[in-house]
Amino acid sequence: YSLPIIGFIALLIGGAIISAVRSRSSALGALRSAVQRREFVVRYQPIIELQTGRCVGAEALVRWRRYDGSIVPPEEFISLAEASGLIIPITDQVIDLLVAELHDVLVADRNLHISMNLSAQDIQTGRGLDYMQTQIGRAGIRSDQIWFEMTESGSVEIDAARATMMRMRDLGHLVSIDDFGTGYASLHHLHSLPLDALKIDKSFIDMIGHDTAGSKVMPYILDIAAALQLFCVAEGVQTQEQVDYLVERNVAFGQGWLFSKPLTSEGFVAFYKERKARYGPYSRTAIPGW
Ligand code: C2E
Ligand code: MG
Ligand code: MG
Ligand code: MG
Repeated sequence: YSLPIIGFIALLIGGAIISAVRSRSSALGALRSAVQRREFVVRYQPIIELQTGRCVGAEALVRWRRYDGSIVPPEEFISLAEASGLIIPITDQVIDLLVAELHDVLVADRNLHISMNLSAQDIQTGRGLDYMQTQIGRAGIRSDQIWFEMTESGSVEIDAARATMMRMRDLGHLVSIDDFGTGYASLHHLHSLPLDALKIDKSFIDMIGHDTAGSKVMPYILDIAAALQLFCVAEGVQTQEQVDYLVERNVAFGQGWLFSKPLTSEGFVAFYKERKARYGPYSRTAIPGW
């Protein structure tokens, strides 16, 4: 009696595998045509100088706007894009969009910057960097107005990454580690990488003011940054209590819903102008240790 049951189970598992493979390959097909049709849009989340409230720039965050108008968040397609190599043309499209949408304001205010997320593949190949140079060169944007954020990743080949980061630095870009504290970047590698900044992951900002074991990690993150002479950007700032804590500990910059959610380019320019009128212009010389 067990044979038919085993056969039935085998059929079920087989079916599940086939449909998983099919849905993965159809998801890949959809993503591939999204790249061809240039269905990506970029939102800009303002970055604030915490002590003054001035807007220093924004982080560019990609979204996939499907033909029906629905928005797919990056968490739902970046890993497939990375696994399939589609991240390379997606990075190029993000560059095209931010240059087209923001070159006016970036040329008008040399202290303003845009921070861009790069994946391990972008860093390993250095491909996006060449494209970036061409595009910003044409638009009259300076290299020091484009900052790069790199997620700590287990799969990045450290020597190739270091080489690309050195080229970025030589060209004048600022380089930061994204989601610091959540990845695999060993302290050993950290001190040997050409870095300007750490972006402290939201999970650590969330713990500020809570008496948990995790909240006791924050001072050590700041010690590491100070020891390596890196400035910090706090991610996911949502309360004034968090701002007070961060300012007291010399964390220069922050972004989060307390200030603004990611905005369209028009929304960001309006936000930036409003902050400039209210708090005055931001001057780049203020970056600690830079
Ligand atoms: P990330 O680089 O760490 O970006 C910060 C994420 O936190 C963004 O999510 C942002 O919307 C969200 N966030 C910021 N402040 C708050 C807050 O106060 N509360 C909450 N709940 N969330 C906040 P988003 O836009 O969904 O992006 C998710 C991740 O996707 C990014 O994390 C980044 O790793 C990746 N990503 C986004 N755009 C790109 C891109 O152009 N290229 C690559 N390779 N990855 C990207
Ligand atoms: Mg980021
Ligand atoms: Mg981050
Ligand atoms: Mg994050």
